[in-house]
Parts: sequence; structure tokens; C-alpha cells
Amino acid sequence: MEHSGRLTYQEISQLELSDLHILRRTSIESIFGLLEHCEVQMLAPDAILLKQGQSNQTMYLVLAGRLSVHLDNTDAEPVAFLDTGQTVGEISVIEASPATAFVKAAELTRLLAIDEATFWRLVEVSHEFATNMLLLLASRLRANNNKMVENINLRMQLEHEASVDALTALRNRRWLDMNLPRMTHRHQFSKKPLCVVMLDVDHFKNFNDEYGHASGDTVLAEVARVIMHKLRPTDLAARYGGEEFCIMLPDTNLKGGVVASNRIREAVAASKVLAPNGEELPRVTISLGVACVQQDDTPKSILARADEMLYRAKKNGRNRVEA
Ligand code: GH3
Ligand code: MG
Ligand code: MG
Repeated sequence: MEHSGRLTYQEISQLELSDLHILRRTSIESIFGLLEHCEVQMLAPDAILLKQGQSNQTMYLVLAGRLSVHLDNTDAEPVAFLDTGQTVGEISVIEASPATAFVKAAELTRLLAIDEATFWRLVEVSHEFATNMLLLLASRLRANNNKMVENINLRMQLEHEASVDALTALRNRRWLDMNLPRMTHRHQFSKKPLCVVMLDVDHFKNFNDEYGHASGDTVLAEVARVIMHKLRPTDLAARYGGEEFCIMLPDTNLKGGVVASNRIREAVAASKVLAPNGEELPRVTISLGVACVQQDDTPKSILARADEMLYRAKKNGRNRVEA
């Protein structure tokens, strides 16, 4: 701190005080006697006013300049700035709790330090000051609520991104692992059929080796597009990993699952894909294994059975469906 001193009429005019939000509508003459005991402090740029966790019994009023608020350390990005008329430290004073953030001067800043005893005297003698304090806390609370809503939305967005595959925009393995158990259980409980299809691109290693990984990626995105296009709105598809996909067909029996699988298989075999350089790539084919959820199935056993059928489709010549 460069300078500190008692409040005097020379240092701080009543006019300046009446501009402060927290003293709005108060009669400055009636509280000046109290404020006279308060110190005016000057903070040089970067000087630290409060440290997180430090005990604090003072509310600071920014008379001029600007403070910055930081969460982890004083070099972290500021989470807020406090300009002329704003206050800091009032929550520690009210609750007798330590400072919850780091506060430092963003520029040369002049502060009025209102100690705890004076703070409570002000609340006592000035109804307006108390009202202003309530309004200030209400607006802090509201700002926090808004922040919370923002955080919830952000978390929902992150959760969505964490369950979606970036290349194909289908759901990913993580999503499947989280949702297949519930779906299986629900269909077993309701005794409604649920078909699970495992799908794998044929000879895809050769394709990648021949046409490059970028072309391979384009093909995977196209296969995903075809899958989505050929499914009912209630069906669900996930990228299981690599060039393997898993499809869930609610309220569909084995026969229906085979029909849907063949529809996808034919559409993939017929779909044209262009390489990143614009040239048409050779068509790829897929093999599919279909299994229906039984009463004694677990998510693991149902996937294993669909996988077994997929393996059989590969063994029996690829570009086919086995159930
Ligand atoms: P099969 O018909 O028996 O399934 O033969 P395959 O070559 O498709 O099977 P294999 O499991 O040997 O190879 C899978 C290949 O899929 C290996 C890898 O190059 C390719 N692959 C897996 N993930 C991706 C991906 O994200 N992008 C691209 N371009 N290729 C992938
Ligand atoms: Mg394959
Ligand atoms: Mg594979």
C-alpha cells in the first residue's frame, strides 16, 4: 500500500461519497461521523488487497481505480473487475468468514476501508445503508444463480459431447455402455422385444491401406449417415469402436431386425463415396450380426451373441446378415 490515512474532507468529498452505490439515498451528513474513522488506502497497480483463505474484517469501497478478482492465484485470469463504487469483502464481514478469492489492484486504486465495527454501526444507524447492502447481496446472489445456470448448460453440453463420436456424430461407446443396461432391463421388464445389431465394415484394413486413412474416415462417416437414414426415429445407433457400429432396435423381433439389417447392408453397398480429392472410391460392404434380448440376457451376453453372429457373417462370406 502506497499510502493510507484517515478520511478527511480534504481527501474525500461528500459529493464523491454520495456517488457511491452502497451509500445511495443515505444522508451523508448523518454517517460521515462514522466514516471519518475509516481509512483511505491507496493501492499501487498489482498490489494485493486480499488473499484467498485469509481472515478479513473489512469491507472495501472502491473510490477510484479498479480491482481484479482471481480464484486460484493472483496470476490466474481475473474472474471479475470491481470499479468505482463497487465493494469487496462485505461477505467476510457479515459472515465473519475468510476471503474467498484473491483481490488485487488492476491499476492505481483508492479505497475506503470500512472495518467490521463501523460496518455494523452503519447498518444500525442507516436504514438506507442496510437496504443498499441487501440489494447488493441480492444482485450478487442473482449473478451467482445466472452463473450456475450457465455452468449447468455448459455441463450438459460437455456431457453431450462426451457421448457423441466426433467423426460420425453417432453416439459413442461410452454412451452405449451407460445406456444399454437400462434399455435391456426395460425391455426385459416390459417383455417387449429389443434387437441388437453389430455391424462391421468388410476388409476395411485393406481399404485404408489402399486409399488412405482420410478416405477411410469419409467412408465411416457415410456408413453412419446411411445407418441413421435407414433407421426409425426410435432406433439408436452408436459407433462401437473403429469400423464397428452397434444398433438398437426397440420393439423389434429377430425377423424385423434381419429386415432392417439387410436394408442398411444394401444401402451401404449402393452408396457412392468420394475421396477427399474428389475421385469416386470403390463401394464398401458391411457384415451384420443380429441378436434379440432374452429374459436371462445381460448387456454383455447380448453383445456377445450379436458379435458371434457378426463373426458368422464374416465367415460365411461377408456382405451379409446372420441372426
Ligand atoms: P474384416 O472384414 O474381417 O472386418 O476385416 P477388416 O480389415 O475390416 O478388419 P480389421 O479388424 O483387421 O481392421 C479394421 C481396420 O479398420 C483397421 C483400421 O485401419 C480401420 N479403422 C479402424 N478405425 C478407423 C478409423 O477411425 N478411421 C479409419 N480410416 N480406419 C479405421
Ligand atoms: Mg472390419
Ligand atoms: Mg472390426
